[in-house]
Amino acid sequence: MISFALWCENRHRFDAWFRTAAAFDEQVARGIVTCPGCGSPKVEKAPMAPAIQRATAAPSHPDQQERGPPAALVEALSALRAKVVAEADYVGDQFAEEARKIHYREAEERGIYGEATREDVAALAEEGIDVLPLPRLPGEAN
Ligand SMILES: [Zn+2]
Repeated sequence: MISFALWCENRHRFDAWFRTAAAFDEQVARGIVTCPGCGSPKVEKAPMAPAIQRATAAPSHPDQQERGPPAALVEALSALRAKVVAEADYVGDQFAEEARKIHYREAEERGIYGEATREDVAALAEEGIDVLPLPRLPGEAN
């Protein structure tokens, strides 16, 4: 059995089943197939509804050729640095000393940033003073 979407001369659409496509042609030719709406024997296959075009957007591939850290990361680090620089006091090479003073409440508790040697940072860590190295950004001198 095969189903055809048909319409008559008056554009009444209907579906009809036939044993074969050839049977359809034959029955239409003999005027056996009639429109259920108006009884017209002048029927033919209705044009198909226009096919819906599927969106064929290719999945986006991030640029694998990109060098260096992703832009989003650099942006996040830049924002972090900007926040530190904006909110903390710059203490230059007094960083370790100031960090200790703050830790031992000899100085006002505040955010500071400055220069510290690897040894300073290690010593501070031993004393239980957490320091966060500011991220260095690509393209930055030193
Ligand atoms: Zn009709």
